[in-house]
Amino acid sequence: MPYYISGVTADHNDLVARQPKEFKEQNGIDVKRRHRALSLDTADHEVVIADLESGRESVVGYSKLLLTTGASAFMPPVEGTEAEGVYTLRRLSDSIRIKRFLSSATPRRAVIVGSGPIGIEMCESFRRLGLEVSMVELAGQVLPIVDEDVAGRVQGVLESEGVKCLLGQQMLGIREDGGLVRGVELDSGVIPADIVLVAVGVRPLSSLAADAGVELGERGAIKVDSQMRTSAPDVYAAGDCATTSDILTGEQVWMPLGSTARKQGRLAAEAMFGGESTFPGVQGTAVVKCFDHTVGRTGLDEAQAKKAGFDPVAVQVEAESLHSYYPGRGTMYLKMTSDRETGRLLGAQVVGELRSMAEKRLDIMAVAVSCGMSADEMQYVDLAYAPPYSTAVDVPAIAASLMHSRLQGTVCRCDTSGLD
Ligand SMILES: Cc1cc2nc3c(=O)[nH]c(=O)nc-3n(C[C@H](O)[C@H](O)[C@H](O)COP(=O)(O)OP(=O)(O)OC[C@H]3O[C@@H](n4cnc5c(N)ncnc54)[C@H](O)[C@@H]3O)c2cc1C
Repeated sequence: MPYYISGVTADHNDLVARQPKEFKEQNGIDVKRRHRALSLDTADHEVVIADLESGRESVVGYSKLLLTTGASAFMPPVEGTEAEGVYTLRRLSDSIRIKRFLSSATPRRAVIVGSGPIGIEMCESFRRLGLEVSMVELAGQVLPIVDEDVAGRVQGVLESEGVKCLLGQQMLGIREDGGLVRGVELDSGVIPADIVLVAVGVRPLSSLAADAGVELGERGAIKVDSQMRTSAPDVYAAGDCATTSDILTGEQVWMPLGSTARKQGRLAAEAMFGGESTFPGVQGTAVVKCFDHTVGRTGLDEAQAKKAGFDPVAVQVEAESLHSYYPGRGTMYLKMTSDRETGRLLGAQVVGELRSMAEKRLDIMAVAVSCGMSADEMQYVDLAYAPPYSTAVDVPAIAASLMHSRLQGTVCRCDTSGLD
């Protein structure tokens, strides 16, 4: 949606993965648009559904039920958020409304509240459209899903692209004039705004389940087991409305992401038809494009690792993606965290120029963390190498060697062309 708003994707219809007609023709599934599930009777296996056009209600029985009600964008309860020009971005309709406002009201100054992945993507979209952009963040750093050192680099990218970062600031209210947004009230004063995007997170849509007595879990999401079963018989839940578990800590977590929703959805469907696969959980892998950079994370950050009882050790590598003799290289910064006692890899974070393909290194790390590898094992993984793709010893292996040496108490020196 941020890419549709900026014009990278021209037609919003291209964002629709599958039309109702295709569901019908390819899978024999009837999609009822403009219908809302109102209530659920888990004893009688029935759902009450309202047709939003006619207002008519009907009761549908089920043998198995999958709840995939998703999440909704959170709007802080402050004054003025009803003003025209104030938006959240969750549904396709939100992006269409934002795009219309951009062309009809031709705003000059955008304020983005929240510096998570959606806020970051929208910075780029608004800048691409020529708007002045200020980003307001409650935390003392941008992109709070990464550590401070990584966030500092992201902030550098944002500022070099003309984004003003206002950190440690809370949105206290919206100033409006004649129903149109005029500014955002912060702790430090009012900043003028012609359009405001509030991107401060989402909340699970779990009331349908909760009202029917289905047990909720972490952050109010529907509690599920590793086969997506809820506490009610024959009722499953998947995606943003459901909990999952953290692969590294075993704890129940709520990490709403599209990558997870798809996997949980498939697994739930299998389980509903007797399949025995189980969902292993998640490790917080996420990636976001920030102008001409990529930033991402997987596994535990230092603070999470400490909280989970590990003794985390971190190493940082800043390196070129290719040898100097081959064109097209980019620099990347990779931070790797391991447990001091066992050497087990706990997590990694990257930030790098787009052409460095830092996301490839992040995914390598995601697999290593997921498999419970140690830094020692990681340094010898047989990764593909040829000059157009990487250095002879690729960045994750360099970081793993450094980590291994650090854990062993030996000295290791590295340069940008591989391990020395
Ligand atoms: C701007 C943006 C960028 C994103 N980028 C990424 C990304 O790069 N990578 C990533 O992994 N994730 C990303 N996400 C998150 C991703 O979109 C969600 O995790 C994913 O859509 C969750 O899918 P879902 O099916 O669980 O829920 P949803 O997509 O929220 O779908 C739930 C549906 O249920 C409907 N519904 C709710 N209640 C009822 C009811 N009572 N009756 C009938 N229907 C109901 C809703 O209207 C909605 O259509 C992004 C999200 C946004 C907003």
